[in-house]
Order: sequence, then structure tokens, then C-alpha cells
Amino acid sequence: MSFFKYQDGEMHAEGVSLAAISAQVGTPFYCYSAGALRAAWREFADGIKGIKNMNASVCYAMKANSNLAVVRLFGEMGAGADIVSVGEMQRALAAGIPAKRIIYSGVGKKASELMAALQVGVGQINVESSAEIETLNAVAAQLGVKAAITIRVNPDVDAGTHAKITTGRKENKFGIDIDLAREAFALAGRQPHLEVVGVAMHIGSQLTSLEPYRAAIARVRELIGQLRTDGHRIERFDIGGGLGIVYADEKLPSIAEFMAVVARETDGLGCELTFEPGRRLVGEAGVLVSEVILVKPGAAKTFVIVDAAMNDLIRPTLYEAWHDILPVREPRQDTATMRCDIVGPICESGDFLAQNRDLPPLAAGDLVMIRSAGAYGAVMASSYNTRPLAPEVMVDGTRFAVIRPRPTIDEMLSAERFPPWMESVKA
Ligand SMILES: *Cc1c(COP(=O)(O)O)cnc(C)c1O
Repeated sequence: MSFFKYQDGEMHAEGVSLAAISAQVGTPFYCYSAGALRAAWREFADGIKGIKNMNASVCYAMKANSNLAVVRLFGEMGAGADIVSVGEMQRALAAGIPAKRIIYSGVGKKASELMAALQVGVGQINVESSAEIETLNAVAAQLGVKAAITIRVNPDVDAGTHAKITTGRKENKFGIDIDLAREAFALAGRQPHLEVVGVAMHIGSQLTSLEPYRAAIARVRELIGQLRTDGHRIERFDIGGGLGIVYADEKLPSIAEFMAVVARETDGLGCELTFEPGRRLVGEAGVLVSEVILVKPGAAKTFVIVDAAMNDLIRPTLYEAWHDILPVREPRQDTATMRCDIVGPICESGDFLAQNRDLPPLAAGDLVMIRSAGAYGAVMASSYNTRPLAPEVMVDGTRFAVIRPRPTIDEMLSAERFPPWMESVKA
């Protein structure tokens, strides 16, 4: 079921017309459907029930979309949080996620950050290097606590995704090489202030095939056997996130199919499982709405210049990502299309949202909707060119609310300071 569809000739998010939101908050803006977020969550919750004889939990990887309202919505449905910074930890707590349900991931955590995480009592820290094992032990000793950890291993499988979002190959910086994992577990096992509870992996993002998961889980399973022989108590297997969404015409496995593979590959392993989905929970639940500033016909192609840009949605230029773009006013069936690039107003040739698209003719003032922008959209936005961050709106049925307002230029400027020796020239 799509939560974004045309009704009476106008694109709606659930029961709210995007044009109506635009009239109130201006463009560009992000719009999230609460119904779509809940539906994505339920797919996971139901999928887990399909794994018999095994405890499993879902920690939302909030770097995909860390708006407090989005995190709270998942938290209220029982989600934990997978965080990658102390900033995200504070967001998770502010959104009401209990500390015990927080997993702290990341390749380079500072001692001060580990200290903050132990002080609030996060449930699990996923460590990724020998250096981190020693630092964490020292920090835990200082606080007089024992830190529950898993060690993230790099199973060296090809996730079959874009190079910039592949994380499970030997040449990637993430995790400990699976061939060196036993040494790392031995090191961790000798630390008096660490309690090794399991193994973690996360092999990449936007995976559209289950085969890389199957291969990676099989490798980690073999490792778990060796680790137990070595005397470690391995109770948890954190499988990470990475499940893909539809941007164009991807054929995706369902969550039920994914869970069936996980269940088969972990059958009899006797581990509690953790999942860390990010994109899959939020990606298709969000869109970016933008207004056409002008249309510039060129010799080679037509440029449709819109008021959203690479600073609002960096995925097309960073990952060569393809996002579907639709006019907010429903085009007539027989409308001839035009070949165009949809670009922003930023002074960069990489500032595009789509290239070589066939779209119904667009004119200044028309609204367009960029689909599947709920993940890695607003969170990766910047204020390059002193463009205010696009506001975020949540729709729930026939209601909508601004969940992050657009800052004013004055607010943006007031965050900056002149050095004291320049005060005299202050305007
Ligand atoms: C980014 C990340 C995730 C979530 O990835 P998605 O592709 O958004 O599901 C999960 N776990 C870890 C450790 C991550 O870094």
C-alpha cells in the first residue's frame, strides 16, 4: 500500500494534500507519513515472530532519519535504537528510548563518548578494533562498571550495492577482519571490565539480494562455533541492517523472506538476534517536495531548476542514486513528456536531483515530489550556500505537523561570532 497517492488530481500524503502543506510551510520541505512508518515497523515486528524458538529485537538505526518524532514513533512501538554518536544517543533518550535498548555502533568512538555511553547505561556497545577494546576497558574501569560488548566482525562478503555504502569487504574500514576475530575476542576476554556477549555484523546498505546475508551469516556462524570452543559465551548475534527499498523498479525480498533466511541460517545456534534496520523503516515513508523556480531550455537538454538542491538531498550526486520524481498535480494520461534534468540552484555542476528524465511539462510554480527520500535525506542535509535546512513535516491520517521548522536566516547567522578583535567593525 502506498501512503502517497493522487486523490482528486492532487498528490496526497495519507489524507493531506502536499499542496496544502506547501501553502503553510513553504518549499522545499520533507514530508513523512506516520502510517508508512508504522507499516514498515509492523513488517519487521511480524517477521520476527516468524523466527521460532529465538528471541529477537529491532534497534532502529537512527542515522537514517533521526528526527525526534520519527524516533519516538518507533520507540512507542517497541523499538530500541542503534546509534553512531553521542548526539544520536541524546536524541534517542530525548525521544524516550530506554538506555538499555540502545546499541552504540561506530568505527571510531572517542574515550569521552564511550564514557558518556557507559554513564547513561546503554545496553550494548559494538566494538570494532583492538584499540577500542582497550580504551573501553580503561573507561569502564574508571567508572567501576562492566561494559556489555559485541565485537563487530567484517565477514568479507560483497553486498552487491554501491561502493560508498558497502561495508563488509576486507578493504572497508568497518569491523574486525573475520580471520583476526578470534584474537580480538581473546583480547576482550582478558579485560576485567568488559563482558563479551556476542558478535555483530553489518555488511552494507540498500541490499536488494538476500544472498550476501546468507553468506555472511554462514561465515559468522562458523566463527561463533570457534569462539565457543575458545571458551567465549556468545549469546547475541547482531545481524545489522542494510535491507534495501524501492527507488526505481528494484525487486526486493520481503521482510518475511529475509527472516526466513535468517531463521534457516541461525537454526539451532542458540543466540538472541538483533536487527538494526534504518533505510527500510523510513526510506519509502518520506518525500521531498519542491517548487519549480524556472525552466531553462538548452541546446542539449532542458533544465528544470527547482528550489530543493544537493544540500537538501545529496543522494543523487553522492551515490548516483535514482529517485522517482512526480508532479504534485496529477498529469493527464495523454500528456507528452519532456526530457529534462531536475537541478537545484546551487553553484555546483553536481547539484542535480535527476538527470535525463522524461516528465510531464513543468512550469514555474509547479510542485514536484521526490520519492523515497525518508532515509539519508534530511539527516545528510547541510546549509551550503546559506540555504536554511528544509523543514520536516509529519502526516498522520488527516493531520499534519511541522516536526522541525525551517530556521530563519537570522537564526542561522546568530550561531556565528566575530572574534573580539573584529567587534569594532561589526556592522
Ligand atoms: C548504517 C547502519 C545501519 C543501518 O543501515 P541501513 O542500510 O539504513 O539499514 C545498521 N547498523 C549499522 C552498524 C550501521 O552503521
